[in-house]
Amino acid sequence: MRYSALSVLKQALTGHKGWQPAWRDAVPAPHYDVVIIGGGGHGLATAFYLARDYDVGRIAVVERSWLGNGSIGRNTTIIRSNYLLPGNLPFYELSLKLWEGLERDINYNAMVSQRGVYNLFHSDMQRDAYARRGNAMRLHGIDAVLLDRAALRKTIPYLDYENARFPIQGALLQARGGTVRHDAVAWGYARAAAKLGVDIIQNCEVTGIRQMGGVAVGVETSRGYIGAGKIGMAVAGATSQVAAMAGLRLPIESHALQAFVSEAVKPLVDHVITFGAGHFYISQSDKGGLVFGGDIDGYNSYAARGNLPTIEDVCEGGMAMMPMLGRARLVRHWGGVMDMSMDGSPIIDKTPVTNLYLNAGWCYGGFKATPASGVCFAHLIAREAPHEVAVGYRLDRFAEGWVIDEKGSGAQPNLH
Ligand SMILES: Cc1cc2nc3c(=O)[nH]c(=O)nc-3n(C[C@H](O)[C@H](O)[C@H](O)COP(=O)(O)OP(=O)(O)OC[C@H]3O[C@@H](n4cnc5c(N)ncnc54)[C@H](O)[C@@H]3O)c2cc1C
Repeated sequence: MRYSALSVLKQALTGHKGWQPAWRDAVPAPHYDVVIIGGGGHGLATAFYLARDYDVGRIAVVERSWLGNGSIGRNTTIIRSNYLLPGNLPFYELSLKLWEGLERDINYNAMVSQRGVYNLFHSDMQRDAYARRGNAMRLHGIDAVLLDRAALRKTIPYLDYENARFPIQGALLQARGGTVRHDAVAWGYARAAAKLGVDIIQNCEVTGIRQMGGVAVGVETSRGYIGAGKIGMAVAGATSQVAAMAGLRLPIESHALQAFVSEAVKPLVDHVITFGAGHFYISQSDKGGLVFGGDIDGYNSYAARGNLPTIEDVCEGGMAMMPMLGRARLVRHWGGVMDMSMDGSPIIDKTPVTNLYLNAGWCYGGFKATPASGVCFAHLIAREAPHEVAVGYRLDRFAEGWVIDEKGSGAQPNLH
């Protein structure tokens, strides 16, 4: 069923009785040409681009839970391509360009809102670092503007510019950055992939990866064995666990990251703002809630929930940037599991096991990467070669020393 203004009107006039399920809830077949493990944003996007752009035969996405239960439905919805390093810039810019056309590509309203991302700076040194990052972006044809305090104050007057410890000097602005409704991305890709014949199999946990002579041939699941020509792992926070099923030990740690939503207030924060003196960022949802977050909880965990000290830390950052925040009541918070790589950049590569492919290491930033990750992982699986914007995302870079360390902070997940 195609969505359009006309279909909405028709349903409105007929009591909304004719809407069909967005995707088929498939039963596992004995064999597929490609099985993608993980029905999060990356797995679903990969299946969609594989089905749309390549002739690879039958495709299934196998999800242990329901679509949207993972980090795709738990993130704070920010998209941007304001990176510094050549290994990252073209990839994230491809992603932003794909976001710009996504709703047409998948015929789904994902509420893509390019409201602008402002990264605040608080010292001369930080300004220089942001100037460098902005210049790198512009050299790659990506929009970036460095704003001084007066220009920033005109657009965002309510910040604490005179804060004694962290006075705000200005911001790096990427006007094309913004937010997208996160769970709509999962539903939209699932619907579009299913329309192209992909089997979306929910409540089907992969419990083992069967190999014959170093070649992956299928997955053991809670709903029986499924044979596969090729297997793509896109399980984000569960990467180490699923990789271990194939005997792989990866340079990835799983950590909890929390998100917070306040009671609904009148429209106030019409951009995305990040605090430069601590880990805090904020935007406002269309329903009025202030949506914000900060650092990972700081210890390894597979629990999709967080702890009180991080809540305190995040709220302190928010109060330093925007003291009025203290008047708002916090109504919801939750956690998700992040697959933190040791240089802060992702991995899209083959594994030492033939026909087993890896998509992981998304750290805090995998939501914005969803479309490009799908395009690049589909390319890798179908063509057996990396996509041109993902050549640096090799698994062996950690052994060889070709890390893509945006922040220059080394193998410390909490600093990426
Ligand atoms: C609080 C929070 C805020 C964030 N904010 C942002 C942000 O603003 N911007 C941004 O770019 N990124 C953000 N992120 C990061 C982003 O959400 C993730 O990097 C991204 O969603 C991970 O990719 P995914 O969508 O494929 O993951 P998921 O949705 O987690 O998908 C992985 C799927 O694999 C499934 N799975 C796991 N094990 C198995 C198994 N054995 N068998 C079958 N299925 C399995 C899981 O159930 C899950 O559905 C945030 C994350 C969190 C938690």
